[in-house]
Amino acid sequence: MEIILARPRGFCGGVIRAVNIVNEVLALQGPPVFVLHEIVHNRHVVKRLRDQGTLFIESVEEAAPGGIVIFSAHGVSDGVFERARERRLRVVDATCPLVKKVHFRARRYSRAGLELVIIGHKGHAEVEGTKGCVNGRVHVVGTVTEVEDLTVEDPGKLAYVTQTTLNIQNTHLIIMALKKRFPSLMGAGLADVCRATQNRQKAVHRLCREIDILLVVGSRNSSNSNRLREVGEQSGCLSFLIEDSGEIDPAWFRNRHRVGVTAGASAPEVLVQGVVERLEALGDAQVREMAGGSEQTAAEMGASRRELDVQATLAV
Ligand code: SF4
Repeated sequence: MEIILARPRGFCGGVIRAVNIVNEVLALQGPPVFVLHEIVHNRHVVKRLRDQGTLFIESVEEAAPGGIVIFSAHGVSDGVFERARERRLRVVDATCPLVKKVHFRARRYSRAGLELVIIGHKGHAEVEGTKGCVNGRVHVVGTVTEVEDLTVEDPGKLAYVTQTTLNIQNTHLIIMALKKRFPSLMGAGLADVCRATQNRQKAVHRLCREIDILLVVGSRNSSNSNRLREVGEQSGCLSFLIEDSGEIDPAWFRNRHRVGVTAGASAPEVLVQGVVERLEALGDAQVREMAGGSEQTAAEMGASRRELDVQATLAV
């Protein structure tokens, strides 16, 4: 069996930054530390932080008054900030700066009097956060069919942003469908889909030319991990999304000898290595890694320590 590891894969700068922030708050303040929603969508990461004294909550009302609450990498609405302030919580915002960039653009469009379309998955934490950053009318569409059914107030005053972790190919089709229906639509094309997401999808696309089967390491609720599996399928590869090596079924590799392995942006490398070990245990295996480019690091996104210093002065 030949095992080819995608590059880049796994943790992105935004995830590393968010996890570092939780670690630093735990080190500085000690438990309990409240985190609103899963800090990143990975069961293993969440379990490790829970074991260290992090309490994951679904609304700021669950946090003890005066406590520290960390907002996850997916971002939150203005209303959540407001409610945290009312409860006198000390807020540390671990929202990925690239999600913040989308919030900024959404606000700018809305303040200019444009109705906003968010291309993304209804109910996803990031989409809910972006939706709650604007005051005007907002629509969420996730498919070309939903674009066809969309009703807007003024077709001449419309703009869009996208979720950061979408399938590039599908998102391009949705943008084209929107532009066809609303020619004066404003938006930034695929620029809101973050570089980490795009790089991982492009790597899978290239990898699929060399393999018979693709394993994507990531959690079921991780948008970008699901998209990697989708890109694998779209590239003609039998593709599985697995939480960890325990989900591997040896029957998948009958008559399939070239295995590609990648990981979603929230999946730690240790899980990938566990998958490689399991595959090696199935028989003779050679492992190699694709050549690949570098991308923005957590440090380039803003050192978490500096982030904490700034936010400490803003704490209620
Ligand atoms: Fe930020 Fe992209 Fe990583 Fe999400 S996937 S945390 S938007 S870099």
